[in-house]
Amino acid sequence: MVRMLNVAETCVGTRALGPGRRSVVWVQGCPFRCPGCLAPEWIPDRPARRVAPADLAAELLADPGVTGLTFSGGEPMEQAAGLAEVARLARRDRSGLTVVCFTGYRLERLRDRPPGDGVGALLAEVDVLIDGLYVAARDDDRGLRGSSNQRVHHLTGRLRDAGDALAGGPRKIEIRVRDGAALFVGVPSRALAAAYPPPVTVGEGANARAVPGVQSGGAGASGARAETDGRADTERSAR
Ligand code: SF4
Repeated sequence: MVRMLNVAETCVGTRALGPGRRSVVWVQGCPFRCPGCLAPEWIPDRPARRVAPADLAAELLADPGVTGLTFSGGEPMEQAAGLAEVARLARRDRSGLTVVCFTGYRLERLRDRPPGDGVGALLAEVDVLIDGLYVAARDDDRGLRGSSNQRVHHLTGRLRDAGDALAGGPRKIEIRVRDGAALFVGVPSRALAAAYPPPVTVGEGANARAVPGVQSGGAGASGARAETDGRADTERSAR
C-alpha cells in the first residue's frame, strides 16, 4: 500500500536549511502549539497536497545539484513512514544524499515511545536530527535550531564536519515567490522574525487559513508562506 504524504510546501535546491544544496519538505500538521511558532498555518492537521513518496522523491531530486534533503513542518514524525520512504527512494537514485530532520519531539521519546508508525525507519535514514520544541524566549539567533533548548544530534557521521554551523552558525533566509505568495526558507534571525510576524491563523482543521496580506517568517518551524503583491522575484540572504 502506498502511504501518501500530506505536504504543506517543498523547496528544491536551497542553501538556507543545512549543508550544501538541499531540497526541503514541510509536512502539514503538528500536534504541538509552540507559542511564537512562525509557521502556524502548517500546524492544523488538514488536507494540503497529497503526494506519493516516489513522486515526492523525484520532485526533490529534480535539481541535479542537490546533495541532501531536509524534513521539517509541521511535525515530520507524524508522517514518519512516508518520509522514510522518500529518503530511501531518493538515496537509491542519488548516492551520498544526507538527511536533516527537525522534530518537536525529544530523541529519547522517539526511541522509547515512538508516536506513530515508521519513526524507527525515519530515524534510521536521518543523519542529523534537530529536536525539541521551539521556545521563543530562548531564541539566541544562532544556528539551524530555532532556540537554544533544541539539540543537534548526529545520528551518523556524515555531516559531522558541519556540526558547528548547524548548532551555532549564522542564519540564512531565502525568499521564493510563487503564485503571489512568498515562501520563507530557513531559520530567520529574531530581527527578521519581528519584521515579518507570522500570519494570524483563523479557525482550526479544514477551516483554518492565513489572513491574506500578513507577512510571516519561520523559526520554530523552518519555513513559512506569506501573501505578497507579487513584485519580489528573487532569493535574498537575510544575514
Ligand atoms: S515550532 Fe515546530 S513543533 Fe512547535 S508548533 Fe511550530 S511546527 Fe510544531
